[in-house]
Amino acid sequence: MFIFSLLRLQGNSEHLTLGTDGMNDDTHTNPRPKPAVAVVSACLLGQPCRYDGASKGRADVLRWRARQLAAGMVVVAVCPEELGELGTPRPAAELTGGDGAAAWRGEATVRRVQDHHDVTAAFQRGARRALALAPTVTVAMLKARSPSCGVGRTHIDGAVRSGDGVFAALLRHRGVEMRTEEGLEDGEGAGS
Ligand code: SF4
Repeated sequence: MFIFSLLRLQGNSEHLTLGTDGMNDDTHTNPRPKPAVAVVSACLLGQPCRYDGASKGRADVLRWRARQLAAGMVVVAVCPEELGELGTPRPAAELTGGDGAAAWRGEATVRRVQDHHDVTAAFQRGARRALALAPTVTVAMLKARSPSCGVGRTHIDGAVRSGDGVFAALLRHRGVEMRTEEGLEDGEGAGS
């Protein structure tokens, strides 16, 4: 089962769009153990949700998704920054004063690069909403170095430094096994 989830604002009302791929319809009449859930950054699947309106779709991530589906996983694609109502395109932002975990502790902020406007609350709102769409997530494939999705390294104070993005930090706190698309360059799915 593949779920593509994006939240967009139209006027004052929120519309949550869910698309399904291979979803079973008998879950209510034929209860079964819930399958494990994998989360993937929507931009890596070709969704044009990056700050500049572009995507970062990759064939190796599509193959990674296919492997998860073949293994019986539910795959949920999310864009935390769209879910945080930051819009697309949106001004570039970066962490300031620390990583995503520090931002959750109130020790760092996320700020727009152009004017240093504090957008921490929107990043955290989007991260919480993304997690709410996949509350039983156990594994995640996230976009490297993003202030939301970056795993282990992200943009902090004008440079790429050690630390998770805001969404990745939330998933790490939940014990989710995370990797980025760069980890696929080991030949596991690369080649196109
Ligand atoms: S890296 Fe994460 S927050 Fe940024 S566009 Fe991709 S899915 Fe959205």
